[in-house]
Amino acid sequence: MNGHFDPHDVNSDKDKEFDGIIRPQELEDFTGQEKTVANLKIFIKAAKMRGESLDHVLFHGPPGLGKTTLAHIIANELGVSMKVTSGPVLDKPGNLAGLLTSLEEGDVLFIDEIHRLAPEVEEYLYSAMEDFVIDIMIDKGPGARSVRISLNPFTLVGATTRSGLLTSPLRARFGITCALEYYDTPTLVHIVKRSASILKIGIEEDAAYEIALRSRGTPRIANSLLRRVRDFAQVMGNGHIDIAIAKYALDALNIDKRGLDSIDNKILRTIITKFKGGPVGANTIATAVGEDQGTLEEVYEPFLIKEGFIIRTPRGREATELAYSHLGIEMCGTPEADATLF
Ligand code: ADP
Repeated sequence: MNGHFDPHDVNSDKDKEFDGIIRPQELEDFTGQEKTVANLKIFIKAAKMRGESLDHVLFHGPPGLGKTTLAHIIANELGVSMKVTSGPVLDKPGNLAGLLTSLEEGDVLFIDEIHRLAPEVEEYLYSAMEDFVIDIMIDKGPGARSVRISLNPFTLVGATTRSGLLTSPLRARFGITCALEYYDTPTLVHIVKRSASILKIGIEEDAAYEIALRSRGTPRIANSLLRRVRDFAQVMGNGHIDIAIAKYALDALNIDKRGLDSIDNKILRTIITKFKGGPVGANTIATAVGEDQGTLEEVYEPFLIKEGFIIRTPRGREATELAYSHLGIEMCGTPEADATLF
């Protein structure tokens, strides 16, 4: 087995099938994100009591933390249908109009990667979200006129990894905004054990912990690793996952001991080897690792900061001692080390 395993990749049919089975269906089954879940419970209950559609909801946060899952749960809890699309797919106002007019009263429209909507499509959304109407242009040239179509009240659930790219008029039209956070290890252990039990995989507590630890705080990665480790357990043992099999499989898959992926490690190595450990600006790091600055700041950096590998200072990002020891690089020229010279 080489190092090409990409736990972020969920595009195969098998992954989608697996995802459909283990995706929590109700708020009760959804572990973690306690604040968001508690608030959603209230808002859903209140909307149901008033017999109104739920206010529009925006989820933002790094990939794999449960935005799509929560959108499905909202529709389920409201007892309505959900239509699913994404920013890049909705490339013409006509596509959006078609979707909006097909919604029944109270339905959920889920738009993933909502920051990637074309501006002309986004403009149509404004009146749809605010007043449940859309103005459609009919004909071109001198005969052009606009026709107003009223829509059934609906709930738009938007998801984005890049909240910074959302325009302010769009952001302002969401009544409920939830920031999803990385999961701590005990919560991920719970998720791994839940998925294992649904899939009828036997797993020991310490093995579940080992998988959780290496999942970059992300349920999608935890579930993905569980499946891969199960393959090893089936081929090399009797299908039961114990700590020895888990460690062997995770090492064979080149999964970092702290769950960092190749870009995380590249960021740390760049700060340390090219910029003497920092401080260095996000912009400079992004250019050096070939990533977009927004992605660096919204997708990679939060986890590296949360886990204590980098710190953000007014002069830029600095690698911590933990980052040096993680990469096996000796820390030199630190303020403490310099001080001993005097
Ligand atoms: P996102 O839309 O944020 O990229 P998804 O909602 O697609 O993430 O979640 C990715 C995977 O992780 C899915 O298989 C989902 O079932 C699982 N998952 C996410 N959050 C949770 C959770 N809190 N509890 C259990 N499983 C979760």
